[in-house]
Amino acid sequence: MRDPRYDILFTPVKIGPVTAKNRFFQVPHCNGMGHAMPLAHAAMREIKAEGGWAVVSTEECEIHPSSDLTPYVEARLWDDRDIPALALMCDKVHAHGALAAVELSHNGPTASNLYSREVLLAPSHQVSKYGYPSQARAMTRHDIREYRRWHREAALRGKRAGMDIIYVYAAHDLSLPMHFLQRRRNQRSDEYGGSLENRVRLLREVLADTRDAVGDTCAVALRFATDELLGPSGVELAEAQDIVGLLAELPDLWDVNLAAWYNDSVPSRFAAEGAQEPFIDFVKKTTTKPVVGVGRFTSPDTMVSQIRRGVIDMIGAARPSIADPFLPRKIEEGRADDIRECIGCNICVSGDMTISPIRCTQNPTMGEEWRKGWHPERIQPRRTASRVLVVGGGPAGLEAARALGQRGYEVSLAEARRELGGRVTREARLPGLAEWARVRDWRVGQIGKLTNVSLYLDSVLSAQDVLDFGAEHVVLATGCHWRRDGFGRSNGLGIENLANNPRVYTPDDLLDGRMPSGRVVVFDDDGFYHASIAADLLHQQGCDVAYVTPEDSVAPWSVNTLDYRHIRKRMAKQGIEVIVSHNITAFDDTTLTLENGWDGQRHERACDAIVLVTSRLPHDALYQELLQREADWADAGIRSLRGIGDAEAPGLIAHAIYAGHRYARELEEAPSGEVAFRRHFHTVDADDLRRIPDGMS
Ligand code: ADP
Ligand code: SF4
Repeated sequence: MRDPRYDILFTPVKIGPVTAKNRFFQVPHCNGMGHAMPLAHAAMREIKAEGGWAVVSTEECEIHPSSDLTPYVEARLWDDRDIPALALMCDKVHAHGALAAVELSHNGPTASNLYSREVLLAPSHQVSKYGYPSQARAMTRHDIREYRRWHREAALRGKRAGMDIIYVYAAHDLSLPMHFLQRRRNQRSDEYGGSLENRVRLLREVLADTRDAVGDTCAVALRFATDELLGPSGVELAEAQDIVGLLAELPDLWDVNLAAWYNDSVPSRFAAEGAQEPFIDFVKKTTTKPVVGVGRFTSPDTMVSQIRRGVIDMIGAARPSIADPFLPRKIEEGRADDIRECIGCNICVSGDMTISPIRCTQNPTMGEEWRKGWHPERIQPRRTASRVLVVGGGPAGLEAARALGQRGYEVSLAEARRELGGRVTREARLPGLAEWARVRDWRVGQIGKLTNVSLYLDSVLSAQDVLDFGAEHVVLATGCHWRRDGFGRSNGLGIENLANNPRVYTPDDLLDGRMPSGRVVVFDDDGFYHASIAADLLHQQGCDVAYVTPEDSVAPWSVNTLDYRHIRKRMAKQGIEVIVSHNITAFDDTTLTLENGWDGQRHERACDAIVLVTSRLPHDALYQELLQREADWADAGIRSLRGIGDAEAPGLIAHAIYAGHRYARELEEAPSGEVAFRRHFHTVDADDLRRIPDGMS
């Protein structure tokens, strides 16, 4: 079944005392569930193991209260009571023949300690990384010994939980062994500071401690950042080469990448598959131990090439394993064209960033494995022989049609345009977003394998068409459009006299090829990616572009997808003028009036056109008309009507995919109760209640 070209991906790899059954390695990734939602976390990891990953890792795992990452929820091994949650994950992962790995981390000055209230620790006195108004104190030699003890004890707990691989973490600018390497964080004058040999000492000791504690049965992995792209104040490639040389044979496995996280998980808008190769390819030449690397690998040919060319031994993946937990099995079973390829949008990252369970644009079941019992590959069969009409072939409509088809329903999808994909097809033409078309391509490919789903292009449906069609269930996924009146977060009453001004544009105009020229202001009251991409596009078209936002920073929500810095850098490189904290009050002829949000001062600037990126309105005319004609439904045979995706409430592509999937899952199914998903509860037993002092209960 399997293409013999891919055989090499399925050869076992010995990692110290353990053996991975193939070369697919799910590297650590955050998920917003962590220690707070252990059942959901374990179920999510289990699906990866079932999908064929030979190694399944936790996210960062806090080893001590002095490395408390609150409000972020990661894994935790502070004491023995944390073992059962991770033991559960290990059992689930082992049930599918995979190895479990834990990434032990003490975050030093990059922790928060907001929960534990411990003083932050660091190689030298310094400010905390994330802007908390407190400093980290320099560790004494005693502190270093204590830290080594905590790490050792956490490694032993990991082993007791059933972990096969214990990570020492020196990457992402997030853990003490890395902080000791960095000149900007380590100004010590003792044997742990100064020379490279001294700055490497702690990492060397912790590797040895870990091997000594658990190395008889567990592999010791080192996660190491080869470059921070910060120049001499950070770990740089040349120094990293020396460090790998010094430690070459000490770990059982090298897992190498770029720091910080925004340089590692770069959105596809700013980096292609395999972009880290020039920064990590030296490692395999320096060690005989297996090397894991990441690069948002979704193509089996690229994976094979990485291995054959001696870049890496194992295919590391976080995002590709999120978008398709069954990626390895699909290659193994000769179904590589079924892989649901990651699009590099980083909505998954936003789960961790917003401290909420991970979600994924491509994989709507991600984060719902336990909560809703959703499986990425399986779905319950249809209840009845009803037919379903889907109107609109954007992400919501395509996913609904695909998943309904998978359930066995007779599905017809009507799309007004001559192309499928809706906003995804249109947005994928914008600078850097080509890979987003994978959202459409995977669904169209899957639908093509079903005989019970029919697609009709160039088919604008009216309410009468819908009634005449004769389907029992009708779902409207008709999308939305950008507003032209300025209405949005900062202008609840809109902006006067804009709606009919021919010099006012919206992202829809740009997507339809109606382009402004000359001096153009892109007004961002949305805060995510649309405005910066419009600015990028118009710059490329030769416009003189300025970016204006009422917010105090550019595209503030893009911090959650790690786009922010890349957006800022690109804008700076393109010479796009950035004006923050300003609203638009008027636009007449070629004069734009801006108002400072803090002092109310107004100023005018010459401007030929503005692009309003404010808010959107659903295309719900069809929905409203059908509601008006509810009396005709029974004769037409219609039993249900729903609006989903942007047609219900405009949002992310991820929301539209989720809405389409959920519609398909829930059609004709009994409601699952008042709360639509399972939740974690902390249990409070009688002993705990008795321990509450008098006067406090
Ligand atoms: P979503 O993100 O919710 O899937 P999109 O805007 O991407 O929304 O897709 C909506 C799709 O619906 C578009 O491709 C649009 O052409 C199509 N559409 C809108 N109205 C109709 C209609 N009356 N009949 C058929 N297709 C429609
Ligand atoms: Fe890839 Fe986007 Fe899914 Fe993350 S959310 S795994 S980047 S498709």
